[in-house]
Amino acid sequence: LALTLTACAGEGAGSDSGSEDNTEAAADGDLSVGVAMPTETSERWIADGDAVKSGLEEAGYSVDLQFAGDDIPTQTQQIDAMITGGADALIIAAIDGTALTSQLEAAAAADIPVISYDRLIRDSENVDFYVSFDNYKVGVAQATALLSGLGLTDEAGEPTGEEGPFNVELFAGSLDDNNAHFFWDGAMDTLKPFMDDGSLVVPSGQTDIDQAATLRWQQETAQKRMEDLLTSTYNDGTELHGVLSPYDGLSRGIITALQGVGMGPTMEEGLPVVTGQDAEIASVKLIQDDVQQSTIFKDTRKLADQAVVATEAYLAGEEPEANDTETYDNGVKVVPSYLLEVDTVYADNITELLVDSGYWTQEEIDAGQ
Ligand code: BGC
Repeated sequence: LALTLTACAGEGAGSDSGSEDNTEAAADGDLSVGVAMPTETSERWIADGDAVKSGLEEAGYSVDLQFAGDDIPTQTQQIDAMITGGADALIIAAIDGTALTSQLEAAAAADIPVISYDRLIRDSENVDFYVSFDNYKVGVAQATALLSGLGLTDEAGEPTGEEGPFNVELFAGSLDDNNAHFFWDGAMDTLKPFMDDGSLVVPSGQTDIDQAATLRWQQETAQKRMEDLLTSTYNDGTELHGVLSPYDGLSRGIITALQGVGMGPTMEEGLPVVTGQDAEIASVKLIQDDVQQSTIFKDTRKLADQAVVATEAYLAGEEPEANDTETYDNGVKVVPSYLLEVDTVYADNITELLVDSGYWTQEEIDAGQ
């Protein structure tokens, strides 16, 4: 309703008012915001895109929302087009965090504020603000879920005294995504004491992020690496107890590989503990069904709200409020950030975290879509 009213008001009063006031211009729909999202293959980015778009439209802006199919040239072209098309602000979730330098130079030259959305844009002076989650803590939460699933700690990360040893394999995200490094660092710092005392073992020996990485966060790539690990390391009867996975899409590829060699199909029937991230509907269903152990819930609605708030601040000539001005050095400068907290989802808190908050309905979870 609010949207309809402002749009109508804009028709009559907009063009001839001559006002320079950005708030009025926004109400007229005269200010436009370019929103660049990486891909539609993962539902979290669709949800992000939709939430940012509707939030901006409710605030009175017109919105150009683009998805780039995880293709870097497509994303750079989309951003170029937003700039030449007269965008007044840009919200960008980069595919490759280092690939946008010339776009950002053009944006700065045109005085367009740039908000880096969830993934930090690196190597550029021209990133004004960063909205994300506490990505190091995401990694800590993933590792803690793995440890608690194995019984080495409780869900709060307190050691139980269990000695194992448990065999695990480690997966990381796409190395061109700054977040992948934060997730990995948080996870490895948490797992290290258990690796050091021998209660946690990585039988493949693949403990470097370069070995564990998954280009573009591709499910098939993770499935293939898991299949290769099963062949190289586990076909002599060595047991696998857990897999650190940083994203639900990878988790589903990994689970497919594990079930493909006859493990499970559920954890109760011996499927290793597999972690995740994003509370994607297919994975929430797997968690409900005792297949995937956990996921990290990042409420994209809250992140979208922060992006809208920051955009409104810039377009009103103000600075958005940061809650972290130390952590996110993009190689050129520390980017002021607004970071949100995350929650870990297990089978027993799906209702509380995801259904009661309205993120998914129970019907969607039951259907897995
Ligand atoms: C996001 C994660 C997501 C991953 C793959 C990361 O940048 O922070 O939430 O799982 O990209 O899309």
